[in-house]
Amino acid sequence: MLPGRFDPQRLTALVDAILVRSGSTPEEAAIVAANLVDADATGHASHGVCQIPVYMRSLELGHLQPNRHARILRDEAPFLVVDGDVGYGQVIGREATELAIARAQAGGACILTLRNAHHIGRVGAFGEQCIAAGLVGVFFVNVVSRPLAAPHGGARPRLATNPICIAVPATPRHGAFLLDFATSAIAANKCRVAAARGEPVAEGLLIDEHGQPTRDPGTMFRDPTGAILPFGGYKGYGLALACEILAGALGAALPAVPENLRPGRVVNNALAFVIDPARAATDADGWQGLADAVLDYVTGTPAAPGSAGVLIPGVPERHHREKVAAQGIALDPGTVQALHRIGGEVGVDVDRVLCS
Ligand code: NAD
Repeated sequence: MLPGRFDPQRLTALVDAILVRSGSTPEEAAIVAANLVDADATGHASHGVCQIPVYMRSLELGHLQPNRHARILRDEAPFLVVDGDVGYGQVIGREATELAIARAQAGGACILTLRNAHHIGRVGAFGEQCIAAGLVGVFFVNVVSRPLAAPHGGARPRLATNPICIAVPATPRHGAFLLDFATSAIAANKCRVAAARGEPVAEGLLIDEHGQPTRDPGTMFRDPTGAILPFGGYKGYGLALACEILAGALGAALPAVPENLRPGRVVNNALAFVIDPARAATDADGWQGLADAVLDYVTGTPAAPGSAGVLIPGVPERHHREKVAAQGIALDPGTVQALHRIGGEVGVDVDRVLCS
């Protein structure tokens, strides 16, 4: 491990111990801890261990309930409607995806509505579950939390960072395709880290409370707040709105409108499509070869000046996992401090778990 970095297994043990001390069963703690540390390991620290202080606060406020499981509300193929009872989203999302996978394996496809889970974290984790089962997964997710993102053309926040994930299993010549990102130009938590460090963010990501462009991440934590812009202008905004309509209004009956918002509460809903590619494909035996032809052609593009070349979505996360296995996980100082504070509160000796 490089100095100042953390061994992923020890970090998992630490998060696991904190979660057990805060009311989770060992099974739940293991799932949530592994998911959060893996988010850090894939390069998405915004959805990793730094969420622990947020989750502890949500437990205190009663916005997050430990030891809940995906509860089936309706199971009429091809539809599956699941309620999360504001349980840990990492557990509810995983269980709901498992249920959808079983139905897609039996019937060829499943349309999953996941409603009322606490923060589900890195959506790619559920895409990876589909990939592991040999299935395609498409997830539209809305976030019911304080508004963070401005709609294209708007000067105030009205939407959240509503993520989208598209997962396709590996082909003979290429690894899995895993597209997984927020529809906002920057993750909210990346603003928090930059603000804590007193660093400006790049241009074109934020507007202040008057709708003027700003590089000051502190604008997201003042009252009134500024807003994050959607990625790709009206295109990212359109996708964020699609998440809100599909996952929030149509799927979960829980869109992020003022009457559903509570201070400090984060709820995720999803509308997901889990599909057996062998049964959806016109050419069941040949589609992977055709996908490889596309991927060969695109990745064979000459690199643009200053670029390392063309990558397939999902590759950066695999590279990051390899790097972390050799070098360890870097946590921002605010997260390390918060883990020590929470460890003290729940009776976990953080230094001993991380260093023994
Ligand atoms: P990001 O901007 O880092 O984009 C990640 C995606 O882009 C991945 O699919 C990655 O493989 C791909 N990618 C990156 N570089 C690439 C390159 N050079 N070539 C090709 N593809 C490339 O992600 P983000 O918007 O910061 O989101 C981070 C995470 O936050 C995601 O896992 C998302 O699910 C999660 N998230 C969750 C919530 C929630 O409420 N649960 C909300 C927002 C975001």
